[in-house]
Amino acid sequence: MSDPSTHLPVITDKERVRRLLALPGTRPNRLARLHTARVAIVGMGGLGNASAQYLAAQGIGHLTLIDGDRVDATNLGRQVLFGPSDIGTLKIEAAFKALSRIAPKLEVDTIADYFTEHNGASLIASHDIIIDGLDSAAARHWINRAALNKGVPVIFAGAVGYEAQVFAVYGKPPCLSCLWPTMTDADGDCVTHGILGPLVGMVGSLQAAEAIKHLIGFADKPGSLWTFDLFQGRTRVVSVPPNPLCPVCGSVSRGPSS
Ligand SMILES: [Zn+2]
Repeated sequence: MSDPSTHLPVITDKERVRRLLALPGTRPNRLARLHTARVAIVGMGGLGNASAQYLAAQGIGHLTLIDGDRVDATNLGRQVLFGPSDIGTLKIEAAFKALSRIAPKLEVDTIADYFTEHNGASLIASHDIIIDGLDSAAARHWINRAALNKGVPVIFAGAVGYEAQVFAVYGKPPCLSCLWPTMTDADGDCVTHGILGPLVGMVGSLQAAEAIKHLIGFADKPGSLWTFDLFQGRTRVVSVPPNPLCPVCGSVSRGPSS
């Protein structure tokens, strides 16, 4: 069957999730959840590009893309939704164009702005899960606080040089501040230390995988820090316990229901 206006084959929601059915742990009645899910991606750099393309391809219903930057030539080595003709274009607009080709039924909101301490809560309101695609430690901590207040899960990730980390916070302790209470931008950036393009693709894809697993009902594993060192060829998963003295979630962890 094809769409008479475009002559392209019509891809149904069922076809996008059909290969999930055979996976251990899949609950078929939860697959439809993907098609109604609202996911916000904060930052459309390498991590946001990779996670967005897999979320779109897998049949997520709605993406909100948040970024005020424009495509630069130095982005093209790792931000795979963009090509040379997109240079100078807002990243959210170039990404929308590419994602529309991958998944024409996908609903996309584009917000040409930066996540701040003041607008963050409103930007992520009414979403089921947040993908962190930022390169600012301060903004990550603002997301952590805003999402925790609303009980919304965030899949955090960071990558610089050959190294990357992924850490999911599921709206309850442990949170990002339990892990990195004093993280600052001085910890490293891609301009100073460089970045291996496929590394952000790998990690952004892992963020999409964790988001999809959460949405379709796989058991969450809070406090799992994934670390990757592609220079040494090492991968580890480290368990991070809740910090009862955490300034962000400590009062939650000390609450009567914990
Ligand atoms: Zn915490």
